[in-house]
Amino acid sequence: MQTPSPAAAPPADNERLNWFSSIPFFGVHLMCLFVFVVGAKPVDLAVCVGLYIVRMWGITAGYHRYFSHRAFKTGRVFQFLLALVGSTSTQKGVLWWAANHRHHHRYSDQEEDIHSPVQKGFWFSHVGWILCDKYGQTRLDAIKDFARFPELVWLNRFHLVPPVLLAVALYFIGGFSMLVWGFFVSTTLLWHGTFTINSLSHIFGKRRYKTTDTSRNNWLLALVTLGEGWHNNHHYHQNTANQGWFWWEVDLSYYSLKVLSWFKVVEGLRLPSDAVKYAHLKYSAEDRATLARPTRFFGAGGARAQLVAARAAAEDKVRGALAAAAEHLPSSAPTPQPLLKQ
Ligand SMILES: [Zn+2]
Ligand SMILES: [Zn+2]
Repeated sequence: MQTPSPAAAPPADNERLNWFSSIPFFGVHLMCLFVFVVGAKPVDLAVCVGLYIVRMWGITAGYHRYFSHRAFKTGRVFQFLLALVGSTSTQKGVLWWAANHRHHHRYSDQEEDIHSPVQKGFWFSHVGWILCDKYGQTRLDAIKDFARFPELVWLNRFHLVPPVLLAVALYFIGGFSMLVWGFFVSTTLLWHGTFTINSLSHIFGKRRYKTTDTSRNNWLLALVTLGEGWHNNHHYHQNTANQGWFWWEVDLSYYSLKVLSWFKVVEGLRLPSDAVKYAHLKYSAEDRATLARPTRFFGAGGARAQLVAARAAAEDKVRGALAAAAEHLPSSAPTPQPLLKQ
């Protein structure tokens, strides 16, 4: 398998909307207007909702929890099935999606973050980053663990095949009206449902845990996205199969994974330890006040300064603790200085 190095084919280095390559994206939205022509037959509505749920599941359980975070284990056949269902959501290839997502966690709400509402505004975090040329390539170096499966590389490359086949099948099964509702409307809802996690869930909701980003827990987004709305939990401890950690945090994707684990289709579901879940109980009043602050995403500069200051303060604390510890070390002990980022 040939893996092109990023240097071999540099992506267009600008974040402007590429109108030409975005025609299909806007086209799918426009096709939704045909609902006013075809009406709303119950069977078409049912297919629309059904395909929304199944494909959202492919994104959350597959693209996100399995491929991006390896939150559970499964065999090669089910792994492919997860990627296939995820691909029908028309959100590009599985390796592209997961590699970009890993990048988001590494740099969340920092300058390098691809889709941070704090850094680049709401629109860009929601769809702008997908519609520009800069981030179109798969960052294979970030997803080497799955890039060794040729079937996944194939699916990543021909990611449009599953959604196109789905659209054709809907047309032949239920005619034009089923195509409009089952593909165009369902896919548009699915896109924006998924994108809210990059945009809205870094803006609206509650912050329970201290993270270096603005991720929030939002019950409404959790319902819309089958559990992804518990985004602050997720950013705090990202590799768990569940994102709702308490009984009231509804997480339909996790419930489905639990059922699949009973049948041994998936196994090794990773869960948060009590130390992680209850970490917030030890927070000071000052910490809580900081967490209660709103995300200032309009006029991104202020919010960015806030984050930079918070990060600098956290680093100072670590530096101070290390320096204090160093004073109590026997003279033969290695100095902690090399650990410090200057
Ligand atoms: Zn996030
Ligand atoms: Zn994630």
